[in-house]
Amino acid sequence: MIIVFEPKATEAQVQHVFERLQEWGFTPVLQEGEQISIAITGDSSALRTQTLEAFDGVQKAVRLKEAYKLVSKEFKPEGTVIELGDVKIGGKKLLMIAGPCSVETEEQYVSTARAVKKAGAQVLRAGIYKPRTSPYDFQGVGERGFPWLKKAKDETGLPLCAEVLDVASIAKTKDHVDMYQVGARNMQNYDLLRALGKGGKPVLLKRGLSGTIKELLLAAEYIMSSGNHDVMLCERGIRTYETATRFTLDIGAVPVLHHDTHLPVIVDPSHPAGKRSLVGSMAKAGVAAGADGLIVEVHPEPEKAWSDAAQQLTFDQFEQLMAELKPVAQAVGREL
Ligand code: PEP
Ligand code: MN
Repeated sequence: MIIVFEPKATEAQVQHVFERLQEWGFTPVLQEGEQISIAITGDSSALRTQTLEAFDGVQKAVRLKEAYKLVSKEFKPEGTVIELGDVKIGGKKLLMIAGPCSVETEEQYVSTARAVKKAGAQVLRAGIYKPRTSPYDFQGVGERGFPWLKKAKDETGLPLCAEVLDVASIAKTKDHVDMYQVGARNMQNYDLLRALGKGGKPVLLKRGLSGTIKELLLAAEYIMSSGNHDVMLCERGIRTYETATRFTLDIGAVPVLHHDTHLPVIVDPSHPAGKRSLVGSMAKAGVAAGADGLIVEVHPEPEKAWSDAAQQLTFDQFEQLMAELKPVAQAVGREL
């Protein structure tokens, strides 16, 4: 259930409804954007919309068809803009996250940081924990990479985005990174999602390999209902019968998500492409479809990379991609 207030509703009227709901044993969540609303999380089937609409200041009470509440457009009609230092995510300017698939060495990482910063990226990938399909593959440098992360950030000023694989690594990385990434393989790790709800940093939530859009939104609902509303959704390709690409980039997910939710939508063109030559087209398609940003893998010597060697871009290719994306962004009313 979402309770939407009239534009001229007073603070006292909103407070009154909020307190009454608490007295009745519900869990209300307040949203103070351009239009004030209250979501009732949990079961609200016992509440009648007429009861709520009788309160002064209430414009309407809406019973939601879908199970997601806090992520829904009904709860918050205007798009969410997440602030990460000076970077605004979800506004007119597109977000560009770039960097290697994995942090490997100090030299590899810091040189990539410099190159992507120069080309115009605003956030640096900081993959120190890697969720690999095979347990025998490189699993990431882990905490050994912290000094390299610091050096890259000190030199470039770029905030860092790091994937966390488990609840314990949230606390371990707290003082070393600026935002967390939930990998596709962890989209339905509900303990992790709940912990990120209390993690105090923005979260990039990737869609599971076989996750539906509804499941992605409900995963975001886990983070938001645990207290963190700074969530970005990431379309990174899904598993279909097609094998010509590594995953099938579900470009239609971008407008569907924008229709259903106020959260920013980021496209990852690297993982669905699986090879360098396809990354640019998928990146442009993502921007054209209305994505609020991209996350792209870049490496100084991609063919020597310790993970995802075939799909990482060279520094020159990334610079070229940034130039090619500009007119596409402009065509859909965005800036890069
Ligand atoms: C990654 O970003 O390197 C990664 C492992 O992505 P995904 O979780 O989408 O496979
Ligand atoms: Mn990767």
